[in-house]
Amino acid sequence: MAEYNPFENMLSVLDKAAENLGLTRNDYEVLRHPERELLVSVPVVMDDGHVEVFQGYRVQHNSARGPYKGGIRFHPAADLNEVKALAAWMTWKCAVVNVPYGGAKGGIAVDPTKLSKGEQMRMTKAYTERIAPIVGEHRDIPAPDVNTDGQVMAWFVDAYSKVMGHDVLGVVTGKPIELGGSLGRNEATGRGLMLALKHYYEANNDSIKGKKVATQGFGNVGSIGSKLIQDEGGIIVAVNDIGGTFYNAKGIDVKKAMAYSSTHGKSLKGYQEDGLQEITLADFWKLDVDVFFPAALDNQINASNVNDIKAKVILEGANGPTHVEADAVLEKKGVHVIPDIFANAGGVACSYLEWVQNLQGFYWTEAEVNEKLARNLKLAFNDLWALSQEKKVTLRMAAYMIALKRVVRAVQLRGM
Ligand code: NAD
Repeated sequence: MAEYNPFENMLSVLDKAAENLGLTRNDYEVLRHPERELLVSVPVVMDDGHVEVFQGYRVQHNSARGPYKGGIRFHPAADLNEVKALAAWMTWKCAVVNVPYGGAKGGIAVDPTKLSKGEQMRMTKAYTERIAPIVGEHRDIPAPDVNTDGQVMAWFVDAYSKVMGHDVLGVVTGKPIELGGSLGRNEATGRGLMLALKHYYEANNDSIKGKKVATQGFGNVGSIGSKLIQDEGGIIVAVNDIGGTFYNAKGIDVKKAMAYSSTHGKSLKGYQEDGLQEITLADFWKLDVDVFFPAALDNQINASNVNDIKAKVILEGANGPTHVEADAVLEKKGVHVIPDIFANAGGVACSYLEWVQNLQGFYWTEAEVNEKLARNLKLAFNDLWALSQEKKVTLRMAAYMIALKRVVRAVQLRGM
């Protein structure tokens, strides 16, 4: 397989979607390039007094349908190509679930586990000040992603509000409830994934009940998604995270594992329960399961493991977990991929609800939020399913076609 470049991967799917829609290159050339790419240096006075400067990014892919929207990740592998791909995926994702946003993404190349809480706070605030000129509640609205959470969003709000001279809660979503966050947002990405899987099985006259699932990544998305799938009767037989790979034929007790991870540095290293055994990562991909649920990083399903996969369904919790060439192999094998730009869109769909609540200064109950979220995702699934059946294309291709058509229409209406 060619050298991995997630932005090029994204473009190859986009070009195929454009071809299927009968678009000319002129119709969508503008969407093959991010509108803006900002590189910033992020200086931090470390606890011992020395200064470190980290590389930060914010890429704004497209704003035809509304303000840019997209998370911020802290990860050593964050680089411009990855952030560009993640920004573009946000454009498509917001269009698939029809929320009025464009797409963006940000990140800092750093391993935050090596930083103290104080260092993380100073880094987040310095990064916020550096990207402040291009973000804002009507301009570009970040959110949490890998290794960032409600606390990081709270620091962001504080630093941005100081730059602006007044409180701007709506500048980020995924905030703590005490600081303008929405009820249901923390669980929303996992909830959306559970609903995506549920709708997929219902469309096939089947259900989640009794399905064996292997989850990669046990952070916000992987753990909450697994918990909600288990609540629906699914059996989480394996979990792989930064701390190891764990298998339990009877099903892992997800709630117990979540409690362990939260008190052990967000890692399952050392986790124990009845019937649990540690296995290798190579054996993880060979497991005889119904569903693989990648919810960690991109490019996890690739040439090295795609032929080992026995699951019939891939539920993409992570952004870009499947290499484009591995995707073609899965299609040939008859494996159905529920694609990231729909499957994990519960997060941004709920972020939209958080933002609306911030702008109107009026807050909904958790039941109201969950009901609006579920309605949105069901409508999106229906569109996706109908198009994939009608055109006999994969769910990923259907999602790209829906998204591209909507964004191109907005671009044309604006006369860009
Ligand atoms: P997180 O930081 O909460 O969790 C990341 C998880 O991945 C952790 O359990 C970590 O142990 C695991 N991990 C990291 N490196 C790994 C490796 N090499 N092998 C195995 N496991 C590894 O992040 P998150 O918010 O849960 O995001 C996970 C994925 O979901 C990312 O691709 C992110 O872009 C995507 N996503 C997140 C949201 C959201 O609302 N948080 C929304 C949509 C998509």
